[in-house]
Amino acid sequence: MMQPNKPTSKKQSMDWLWWIATLVLLAWTIWQFWPQSQPQANLSYSTFLSQVQAGNVTRVQIAGADITGAFAKSYTVTDAASKTTQTYTTFRTMFPDVVGDATLLPLLESHNVAIDVTPAPTNVLLDLLINGLPVLLLAGIILWSVSQSMRQQSGVFSFGRNRARVYLYDRPLVTFDDVADGEEAKNDLREVVDFLRHPDKYHQIGARIPRGVLLVGPPGTGKTLMARAVAGEANVPFFSISASEFVEMFVGVGASRVRDLFQKSKEVAPAIVFIDELDAVGRRRGAGVGNVNDEREQTLNQLLVEMDGFDERHEVIVLAATNRPDVLDPALLRPGRFDRQVTIGLPDRKGREGILKIHTRSLPLAANVDLALLARTTTGLSGADLANLTNEAALTAARNNHREISLADFEEALDKLLLGGARPLLLDAHDRRVVAYHEAGHALVAWLTPGSDPVHKITIIPHGRALGVTAQMPNDDHYNYSREYLLTRLAVMLGGRAAEEIALDDITTGAENDLVEATRLARRMTTRWGMGALGPLAFQADEQQPFLGYELAQGKEYSETTAARIDENVEQLIGERYAAVKDLLQSARDKLDRLVQALLHEETLDQDRLAQILGPRPLAEQMEILQQA
Ligand code: ADP
Ligand code: MG
Ligand code: ZN
Repeated sequence: MMQPNKPTSKKQSMDWLWWIATLVLLAWTIWQFWPQSQPQANLSYSTFLSQVQAGNVTRVQIAGADITGAFAKSYTVTDAASKTTQTYTTFRTMFPDVVGDATLLPLLESHNVAIDVTPAPTNVLLDLLINGLPVLLLAGIILWSVSQSMRQQSGVFSFGRNRARVYLYDRPLVTFDDVADGEEAKNDLREVVDFLRHPDKYHQIGARIPRGVLLVGPPGTGKTLMARAVAGEANVPFFSISASEFVEMFVGVGASRVRDLFQKSKEVAPAIVFIDELDAVGRRRGAGVGNVNDEREQTLNQLLVEMDGFDERHEVIVLAATNRPDVLDPALLRPGRFDRQVTIGLPDRKGREGILKIHTRSLPLAANVDLALLARTTTGLSGADLANLTNEAALTAARNNHREISLADFEEALDKLLLGGARPLLLDAHDRRVVAYHEAGHALVAWLTPGSDPVHKITIIPHGRALGVTAQMPNDDHYNYSREYLLTRLAVMLGGRAAEEIALDDITTGAENDLVEATRLARRMTTRWGMGALGPLAFQADEQQPFLGYELAQGKEYSETTAARIDENVEQLIGERYAAVKDLLQSARDKLDRLVQALLHEETLDQDRLAQILGPRPLAEQMEILQQA
């Protein structure tokens, strides 16, 4: 995935080896079994002696145990079975004994046979080659095919060369101007930029420069972009590696890679080393089992060693990104390591507008596109989402043969982003009805519950993995959630199942995801946010604890009795909500049915259409916000 063309070129060279091996094997076979051009009689030693005595031998050549020679006249053999005769002029035989035959020489001499002695063939290497080659080849082929299959399984054999490019660096051209929002983060990072630009200033005064800066924030908020912008501002080389790449199968590989990376960066200092997904390698040590962990630990240790190993004069600054600073090994956060944290959050409304501006800079926008309005309706989207949105809008415009990107293109792109791509899937009439009631249940509960996020869109066209979707869009950025708000969230999640139960003969599996989400939310309310019957207590029982090894080592922090009370409380929270939601839907049964009819007819309804069908939302101020958006 990293480099699509690399594996093929490698495969080609392996093909070459194949060819050479086959050719050599073929040549060897031919050479071994090629019929001798001059037929040579194979004599037994006694026949040889009798031929000498008969005076039929003029010349012998002795090489070790081999004896070859020429007949005086010729030697004819008749094959009794096939009745063919064969005439020979030369022969070959062997001493019957390794020590030779002491009586042979006098015998030959007495019959005037010319004797020619050459040393026994001593070319052991050639001998070995001839005899051992096929074995070697066979072994080679077996080894090769084994390595092939192993590589397919794990990619073990490709690490060295393929990853060498990781240490290549570039000089990013992006600057802080290309990063919208995040003024605070930029201010924090300006010091780093200044140090990289004028290191002497800092050395002279003896200031201790931050060695590592940790960029903390959810995915897609521009951490990588920010790190590149720092390098761009300072105009220094930018080394980048993802920590998950460190975690290889062979122990020691990750560690040596860290060493190489830092070595290279020191050579071209001042420079920036950027380690993405630091949590992949920087999780707490000393927990969990298995090889991968050893490797991770060694890599982490090496990272710490390298960061300590910088003396004050090394102008290399390490930036790292993570979205889980809480799981990082405390040793990483000590002074002299990643002792500074820069938080990059999801963009607020102004931030979103800025990001949209940056990403539409070079795009032809129609006059009706209001980026401020668009920023309003995209609460909760990250920078990456927004970048994606503008690109999707441009694609949509091109597909629709527009010369400018219109508001409608943005709307279409946003739908695609929020709902996932539509999936062609034919539902029969019954399934459509089920999905319509389910989604209408979600939407109606949201509609009727003051304080809940307004419904942006509702559809019974399958999207992604869902059969239908009800998309809500927060009115404004939430930084903090009230208990009241979370309860309405619970209610909306349960609305789908409740509608099924009220209006249909039977309930379906369609609510699976809703129930998972609702249960998780209720549990967190109880155990993390102190919003349940157990009072303001937090329990270390977050099921999202990602590092199983750590949790196993730690164990639970509360008793079984408490666990039972938590379960009870979760049950109660959901039970109460569910009852309330069912009451609510039952009392608005006519609205539910109307909504379902509209859905079955039109398949997708937006905010305005919902308002037409259901009448105004209970709270006037909610409507106002809706109309603005
Ligand atoms: P992260 O590393 O935090 O996951 P990235 O830096 O990879 O996020 O962001 C992905 C893309 O999203 C960037 O390449 C950029 O196009 C866009 N993006 C994110 N945040 C911003 C921002 N603040 N300003 C401009 N573009 C942004
Ligand atoms: Mg990133
Ligand atoms: Zn649902």
